[in-house]
Amino acid sequence: MRIRFSALLTAMLLWLSGGVAQEAARTAEIFDRSGDAGQLTIRFLWLGEQVADDKPGDCMILTSPDGQVMVLDCGHPLASQYVIDALDAMGVTRIDALVISHPHIDHLGGVPALYARYEIGTVYSSALVYEKSSYYRAYVEATANTPHVYLKEGDSFQFGDSVRVDVYNPPAEITYPKDYPTGATQFINNQSLALKFTYGESTAMLAGDLYAAGEREVVSRWGDALDCDIMKANHHGASTSSTSVWRKAVSPQITFITSDTIEDLSIAKKYTKNGQQMYHTLIDGCIRVQTPGDGTYTVLTEKDRTTTLFD
Ligand SMILES: [Zn+2]
Repeated sequence: MRIRFSALLTAMLLWLSGGVAQEAARTAEIFDRSGDAGQLTIRFLWLGEQVADDKPGDCMILTSPDGQVMVLDCGHPLASQYVIDALDAMGVTRIDALVISHPHIDHLGGVPALYARYEIGTVYSSALVYEKSSYYRAYVEATANTPHVYLKEGDSFQFGDSVRVDVYNPPAEITYPKDYPTGATQFINNQSLALKFTYGESTAMLAGDLYAAGEREVVSRWGDALDCDIMKANHHGASTSSTSVWRKAVSPQITFITSDTIEDLSIAKKYTKNGQQMYHTLIDGCIRVQTPGDGTYTVLTEKDRTTTLFD
């Protein structure tokens, strides 16, 4: 009995260590930039588990075909090490564009940690102010001496020589609700930057934490212009978002959900119908998607999927 048990244990340990080694190799591959030239690459980071009452948040590292680096949101302050590990693994010393989708802690909390370690070229955000939050104030202080571009719908800017970024939200005039910022979570999320990245024939939509009302408004203003091949599901895949009108307007072939939990399984499953693909950082770990600009995409995940939960 003892012999059989130890043989089983040895087999299990071998299998486990093989799995861990394989995953470490995959992690290294995801953050290896040697194949990035000529590609628009988006890396969706796993930022660990929830900290206190806050979500760990969003962080995407984008590289342009000519090697510019963009960090789009940078997670909760307690998740900063994940962001730093990823940037270091990529060999990044300078972040050309730091983009903040909206001023919540799980999207801008990591800004001071980035400033402590990297050179930052230009900051992009909306003009929304959120002085009540100490994390917002820390971000304002950290970014004070960096060129800052305030974006609104209708704007566009270049990411490297060949990627255009079009802005579809927030509107030009931000009308603050009475008593702002008391009870303004939904309002702030609905002011998220909605950014469409275009590289040749390839398109990607990244729109922060837009809620349903925000999605409907953006669709009513911009409609078919929002159409994209790939997309991040708004607000971590929660039921606050991913309205049918938004899903129809963007109509992505591939959707990425960034969360430490499955906020709503029925929302996640909406993105696996009719041949669409959906990746989820909880299940798949860090995710890299690359396109050479011809409308094709290659996805690499840190973990091999073993669940059939989304089928
Ligand atoms: Zn968020």
